[in-house]
Amino acid sequence: MTAPPREPAPPFAPPFAPPIALPPAARPAQLIGRALLLRCPACGTPGILRNWLTLRARCPGCALKLDHGTPGHFVGAYLVNLIIAELFFAVGLGAWLLAAWPDVPWDLVERVAVVAMLIAPLVLYPFTRTVWLAADLIFDPQRPGDR
Ligand SMILES: [Zn+2]
Repeated sequence: MTAPPREPAPPFAPPFAPPIALPPAARPAQLIGRALLLRCPACGTPGILRNWLTLRARCPGCALKLDHGTPGHFVGAYLVNLIIAELFFAVGLGAWLLAAWPDVPWDLVERVAVVAMLIAPLVLYPFTRTVWLAADLIFDPQRPGDR
């Protein structure tokens, strides 16, 4: 009895499992839209936040891992949070100064600016985390270990 012929080896071995294709409806705009509604970017299920500052470990709808547990996974979310908070501040301050010029109430502007810069990153934090998750799914589609 002879051994069956061996299949030829693939030209290269992928280092990771191949990505799972997203459903056709999950286009980048839809992923971002779901994230802006604080829903799971992959399936649209609400309730992925444990509280305002913490995500659940997995999506209650599709069991997608929301926190990969790798250090630095959400550093990009922090950067996006900082950039958006600063943009809101700059645009708001500019509009206020233009509207009030030349009689700008500088003392009030100073107090409002300090309060706004303390509150804006906290208000935006969950949105930037879910948008970061959506960006992660867009640029690095789901793999079998993500569920
Ligand atoms: Zn989900």
